[in-house]
Amino acid sequence: MSGKKPHEDISIEFKEYHTPSSGIFFKASKQLYKQDSPYQKIEVIENEHFGRILLLDGLIQTTEKDEFFYHEMLVHPAFLSHPEPRSVLIIGGGDGGVLKEVLRYPVENVCLVEIDSQVIKVSQEYFPWLSPCLKDERTELVIADGTEFIEQTNKTFDIVCVDSSEPVGPSKSLHEEDFYQNMKRCLNSRSIIVAQTGSPIFHQNSIKLKNRFLKKIFKVVCFYMSPVPTYPGGSWAFVFLSDSVQSLEINGNPPEGLLYFNPDIHRAAFSLPNFFKNELD
Ligand code: SAM
Repeated sequence: MSGKKPHEDISIEFKEYHTPSSGIFFKASKQLYKQDSPYQKIEVIENEHFGRILLLDGLIQTTEKDEFFYHEMLVHPAFLSHPEPRSVLIIGGGDGGVLKEVLRYPVENVCLVEIDSQVIKVSQEYFPWLSPCLKDERTELVIADGTEFIEQTNKTFDIVCVDSSEPVGPSKSLHEEDFYQNMKRCLNSRSIIVAQTGSPIFHQNSIKLKNRFLKKIFKVVCFYMSPVPTYPGGSWAFVFLSDSVQSLEINGNPPEGLLYFNPDIHRAAFSLPNFFKNELD
């Protein structure tokens, strides 16, 4: 017996704190990438259970093993409710997971607006799904700040997916009232917006603030939840926004091959647990 505990030979340990005394850690068998971009620290590590993991400023963005929970739940509820989505806008989303899910539908065009071209480059190298999506003739990649893009574009979109990182650094503006107010100019009468809004367990204050200002801007403001194993608290909150389409309207069918989302999950996701529902006055 070597006396070694299993996995003892894995050398690097990554910790993401969710409170000053708790969080998640990964033993990384390899650090595949580590560099500062003009916007953030970008890292890719390999973990024997979760596969490749993208971190920005030390915070988990996506892992190969559990990316489907988050990406399916940010995209498919909007597509299940929208009667006929043709043009889609993704803000953030440089790892390509949301783009992958959107391209499952017969949309005419999808515009991905990512501020950091280095995230695109790194994700293309380490996450196999991105390159084919960027080669899809329906995809338009724009390297820009999402807040500026929506102020300047003269296009309108049927569905907008806000796949921002945490409300710090370049992503901070994507969590603010002005951003959503300005987004109205690139919507049409049946548009739906979906956005990730953080942890219903650790980020309740910011979600409450967001709920208040969103209700001033949109007629339909519906939060929904999904498990995301590697995110803080293991579950995540999203919001469905529209001025005409109700979140539980089912106007379509999800594509084949999804690992998490289905119409029953859609209905269940909008049924919130009391500890969260009671915070959304
Ligand atoms: N799923 C992840 C999460 O919930 O934390 C987010 C994934 S994705 C990696 C977030 C992306 O948003 C990053 O690539 C980041 O560079 C991009 N981003 C941050 N601020 C931005 C902004 N103002 N405009 C456009 N993209 C932005």
